Amino acid sequence: MSKKKNSPFFSFTSTLEQVGRSIDAHPDIIALLSVPQKVIEVELPIEKDTGEIAIYQGYRVQHNNARGPYKGGVRFHPNVDLDEMKALAAWMTLKTAVVNIPFGGAKGGITIDPQQLSDRELQRLARRYIAQLGNNIGPTNDIPAPDVNTNSQIMAWFTDEYSRLNNHHEHITATFTGKPIALGGSLGREAATGLGGLTVLQEYLAQTKQTQSNLTIAVQGFGNVGSNFACLADQSGFKVVAISDAEGGIYHPQGLDIPSVIKAIQHGGKLDRNLCYPKLSVEQAGSSADDSCQQISNQELLELKVDVLVPAAIENQITADNAAQIQARLILELANGPTTPAAQDILDQKKIPVIPDILANAGGVTVSYYEWTQNIQNLYWSEKAINSKLRQKMQESTRDVLSEQSPSGNLRQAAYALAIRRLQQSMLLRGWVRPRPQDTAGHSLSH
Ligand code: GLU
Repeated sequence: MSKKKNSPFFSFTSTLEQVGRSIDAHPDIIALLSVPQKVIEVELPIEKDTGEIAIYQGYRVQHNNARGPYKGGVRFHPNVDLDEMKALAAWMTLKTAVVNIPFGGAKGGITIDPQQLSDRELQRLARRYIAQLGNNIGPTNDIPAPDVNTNSQIMAWFTDEYSRLNNHHEHITATFTGKPIALGGSLGREAATGLGGLTVLQEYLAQTKQTQSNLTIAVQGFGNVGSNFACLADQSGFKVVAISDAEGGIYHPQGLDIPSVIKAIQHGGKLDRNLCYPKLSVEQAGSSADDSCQQISNQELLELKVDVLVPAAIENQITADNAAQIQARLILELANGPTTPAAQDILDQKKIPVIPDILANAGGVTVSYYEWTQNIQNLYWSEKAINSKLRQKMQESTRDVLSEQSPSGNLRQAAYALAIRRLQQSMLLRGWVRPRPQDTAGHSLSH
């Protein structure tokens, strides 16, 4: 087991073991969940536009399929390594169990900064990755999807390459989710993680009898997840006061006019002071920036005094080094693994609740499940129907996690407990481990 500082896989195993003990989970189940079932490492040579060959490193980690086919995204990022992939795959296993959808967990990635490649090089790399994975993926065994720096275009290249390799066999579209609508993608998938996260936040506030009006929010990360969440939160009456991307961000105490900021970014704008449109003066937006606007660093964003802090970028953002400075009243984790275990301990002492990633960002994989279902039955649903199923699912899952909550109030432990119970039930029924006297196959562990 890797114990390197801030190792995401160590974060996973330490929480797994701690929660396993506290709910008297079967030790063999915890042992099985502590290792991925299969690790695939591939070398990816591609021809650059210059004619030279460049070789990249790719991974697919299949963590557990006790509850259904492996499921999880593929990310293109310079930080991708085996430890990160193993953690992200394991979190997918827990996430699909928390929202109770019939999938296991996997994750893939390529160690690359995609900004360094042309579109044609990116397409060659995407195709090479799928060719190298071969029959390790497929609609009934492992279903990849977008993640950090991958999108529906990349899923389209994946689908085409997979289909070519499999002689254009039918049902091939169900091998990937997050596809473009024109290639069997689902309405609502693009915004699903954001809408799911917003629904979890609203349900949490409702269940804990807190007001929702005018709460201030800071969002770290302005990719698909962060920007969709910010936009939907803005529409639902929250006040998004700060946003940032990898280079830094903007803060306006009166709230930002998120749709205008998004529009400006789509037209090539950079997230700096020039895009600091205040929410209240829509007419001013685009003409001049407001004086109370501040350009801030990512670190400053995390430490703002806001009601809700939403890390929506990558792992290890809230660590032992900055957790003591966090002033938010609540944290909603839309990234995977943004909080280290040491930071979680500090936040627990400060009584700042953390709504964990494996619940908060599960909206994406939930609509991936709806996409896969639609592909398999070749019958497509309206966006309204999908969003309403998603909202219902996220509300139910939030209540399920809250009802697992222990007196310590740690919601990550509650979500792990719920997932472990569901996984234990499936593994006992499958006969993967021998039941102890206190385990009745077919029933969840007693509380
Ligand atoms: N990459 C997303 C996640 O981390 C979505 C995975 C999927 O849709 O399979 O949850």
